[in-house]
Order: sequence, then C-alpha cells, then structure tokens
Amino acid sequence: MNNKVFLVGAGPGDKGLITKKGIECIEKADVIIYDRLVNIELLDYRKNGSELFYVGKQSSNHVLPQDEINSLIVKSAKEGKTVVRLKGGDPYVFGRGGEEAEILFDEGIKFEIVPGVTSAIGGLAYAGIPVTHRDFASSFHVVTGHAKKDDSLEINWKALAEEKGTVIFLMGIGNIKHITKMLIDNGRNPNTPVAFVSWATRYNQRTIKSTLSEAYNCTKENNIQAPAIFVVGGVVGLTDKLSFFESKPLFGKSIVVTRTRKKNSELRIKLEDLGARVIELPTIQVELSKDADERFDSIISNIESSKYTHIAFTSHNTVDYFFKLMSTKQIDARKLANIKICSIGPATSSELKKHGIYPDLQADKFDGTSLANKIVSCIEDKENSNVLLPCSEIATSNFENILKENSVGVERFEIYSNRPNFEIKERIINILKDEVIDYITFTSSSTFNNLVDIIGEENLTYFEKINVVSIGEITSESIKSKNVKIDLISENATIGSMVDAILNNERRNM
Ligand code: SAH
Repeated sequence: MNNKVFLVGAGPGDKGLITKKGIECIEKADVIIYDRLVNIELLDYRKNGSELFYVGKQSSNHVLPQDEINSLIVKSAKEGKTVVRLKGGDPYVFGRGGEEAEILFDEGIKFEIVPGVTSAIGGLAYAGIPVTHRDFASSFHVVTGHAKKDDSLEINWKALAEEKGTVIFLMGIGNIKHITKMLIDNGRNPNTPVAFVSWATRYNQRTIKSTLSEAYNCTKENNIQAPAIFVVGGVVGLTDKLSFFESKPLFGKSIVVTRTRKKNSELRIKLEDLGARVIELPTIQVELSKDADERFDSIISNIESSKYTHIAFTSHNTVDYFFKLMSTKQIDARKLANIKICSIGPATSSELKKHGIYPDLQADKFDGTSLANKIVSCIEDKENSNVLLPCSEIATSNFENILKENSVGVERFEIYSNRPNFEIKERIINILKDEVIDYITFTSSSTFNNLVDIIGEENLTYFEKINVVSIGEITSESIKSKNVKIDLISENATIGSMVDAILNNERRNM
C-alpha cells in the first residue's frame, strides 16, 4: 500500500514559486485535490491517469464543504492511492491545513507536509514590500481578517494597534471597515501607510497604497476584490524602490503564443521573464509521418553508400524526428561523419548540438530560400552533390527548386506531419472573444495556417483588436494572404528578435 497524503503548498500563484518537492508530489500523485488559489498550470506536472478534484473555496461560497473535502482525502487514501492536497500559499497558513492533517492522524493515515511560499510574505515581496526592515519593522504578524461578529476573543486588537511591526491581514477584504476601525480605536495612527495587493505574483497583480483611515474608501474606489492581502506598516513605503514585478517591461500585457503541442516554448519563457501573461495555443499537432519509418531504412543504406553529401535540417522538428529514428533503429551517429550538416537557423542548430553535432553551415536569414542559396554557394562540385531534405509533409518546394535550378541533387524526405489541433477550437474562440489580448505571435506559416483551419476564416475578425506579430517574410505572406493586418514583423526570423519587436513597440507606446 502506498497510501500517503501530501499536504502541499502551491505558493501564491506564480508557477515558479512551488518547491521542488511539491512538484515531485504532483508528479507521483494518483489523486490531486486542489483549491481556487492554486495556479492550475501546476497540474500539468501530473502523471497520465491521475484524478483531479477541484474543491474551490471562494470566500464563504465553498464549492465543497470542508467535511466533504476531508472525506474525499480520507477515502482516496484508504483506496491505497497517493493523494496530494494542493493548497494556495503554505498549507498551514490559514486554509485549514492543520485540521486536515489532524483528521489524517485520527484516521491512522500517513501524511507529510510540503511547506509553500505564503502569500503573506512572498506575495508582499512581489509587490515590493519586505515584511521586515531594520528601519521600519522588527516583527510581523499575520492575522485572519475573516468576518466574525465578535472577534475580540480571537484577535488582540490592542496589541496589534500598538504593534510597531508589520501587520498582514489575509481574507480581510470584506471586513476592511471593521479592521481599520479596530486598529484606529485601539490607538494606531490613522495615517499609517497601508497597501492592498490583489492576485499577488500573478499576471494581474495589483498594488494599491493608502492610509489606515482611508483604506475602506480605497477598496470601494478601486473596486478591490479578494484574493488580496491587506498590509499595515511603514514597509509599504518601500514599493517605489522595491517593486520589481509590476515594473517589468511587459507586465500587464497578454500575449498569445501559437505553437506545436510540445511543452515549454522558448518564446513563452522569454516573454514571461519580461512580465507578460502568456497564453499558449498549441495549434499544431506534429507526428512522425506514417511511412517515415520504412523510408528511413533506405535512407540509411543511401547514407552507408555515401549517396548524400549534405543533410539540410529546416526545423527543430526535423532534427528531433531524424534522431528519434536513428535511435529506434540503433544507428550510430558516426554514420553521418562524412556528410555536411546544414541548419536553417539558431533553434535548429541548438537542437542539433543536443545530439553532439555542430552544423557545418547555417542560413543567413533563417528561411528555406536562404538556406538553399547558402548551400549552393558553398558547393564546388555541384553535379556530384546530393542534399537530403528531411521536412514536413506540407513544406513548400522553394528549397528543392533552388537546388535543382543550380544542378544540385536533392531528395525530399517527408519525416513528419503537421496538422491543425482541432481539439482546442472552442478554447481559442473563447479566448479571442472574452479576453483582452495585446499580441498574438506567429513563429511560422503553419502556426498561422493551422489556426485559421481550426477557427475558420469567419473568426479572423477577432484579430482586428490584437497586435499581430510575424516572425518573418514567409509567415507574413501567409498572414497577408488571408487579409489579416500585420502590426509587427521581427527583424530576424528568431525568437529573440520577435521579443525585441514587441519590446520596442511597447517602448514606442510608452
Ligand atoms: N495558505 C494561503 C492563505 C490561505 S487564506 C497562503 O499561505 O497564502 C486565503 C487568503 O490568502 C486570501 O483571501 C488572500 O487574503 C490571501 N491570498 C492567497 N493568495 C493570494 C494572492 N495570490 N494574492 C493576494 N492574496 C492572496
């Protein structure tokens, strides 16, 4: 029996703020029971076949009452399953983690606690507020602000009012009038600086500063809603210097990234580092071509008989599938030793380097035409040259035409298929319809063409209010052919250059 329950802190929202141990628990869980404040992207770490239960909790409007949550945890563990109870922030900072653990003890179920970054500390840090500081606060108190008619027994308002340290209220937004009145009535200076930090560490984080006496009006004027942290004390004054998150250049911008179904695109990582909210739409489903496996056998015998002088890799997918076939068929990489390896651009080259191959040449402009021209210009004995071109089933014939025109032999090898991912049609349309999107990026013609196939041309009107960003000429041609306006074209066909185009556009609009 492996039944054990892990009470895991998911951190305050930024998906990077979970612990390594927390991720390991999600990876091995059979059952994951999670709350509203958990970033659902963390669920991507789960293994296939794991069961998910959303048990909500929106203030007092619980999706599942606490005793039913407890029963669910106990029942799943007793079925012999590994259970992760994933909670926002730290599991023992409010949110009833202690009670859940006690029940597990009472039921004789083994459990472990995986602490998390609490919003009370980490959330404030992202707002530029250190909970302690030698000039302002030598202690901090974290207090529940949950409304209760008579809380005088639970909360020592006098002590909190006299406290010189930072006082942090969680779950306090519905109760600010009472909280601020109690603090002032008990002697705290009405001019004490305060701040509200809502959706801390998320793309929609908002920090609003006020004073103790004005705080309640401030919530109304700014429509401050839960989840938010209410913080009282001199440390609030440091945000001007220490607010690193909301001052990121793309903070507050929502950017759609279209891509293949593979995870973790480089573009996403770069944009998120710059503070953007990235919505990834895997519009392309990439698979090994049906007959690629069989065809590869004859390609290998051609390689053995020195038929090819060059192999031209035109995308990281071609590298990926080529070496997958090499590995399934247990072909030694040294068989490629006498062949010149050519790459379309930096992403493809770095994929090749993963296999220990440093390409002999790389295209100047990172497209097929440029790669073909570069190969032609480097070949002396054209008649005796023969280029193998692993490519997608829908690759254009530009590359092959240029080689043929120059009397260089070329053999097309359709190694992968590239199909629209129709499963996400509804999701895409909902996003385009309901969300405020600042940019949509296209890193290849297929990301655009597939998106159009998925949503239909009639839905292209949504793009009118979004900045359309294209990686280069060929992609732009595809976009223009559907009469969609292009707002930005990156200087080079690289991810870095595309990010620069967005950054420069933001600077221009500042
Ligand atoms: N265990 C959690 C707290 C649970 S109580 C933790 O350690 O952070 C829920 C309250 O926490 C919310 O009402 C809100 O006051 C606060 N909170 C949690 N995450 C937050 C976030 N990302 N931004 C602002 N407040 C948050």
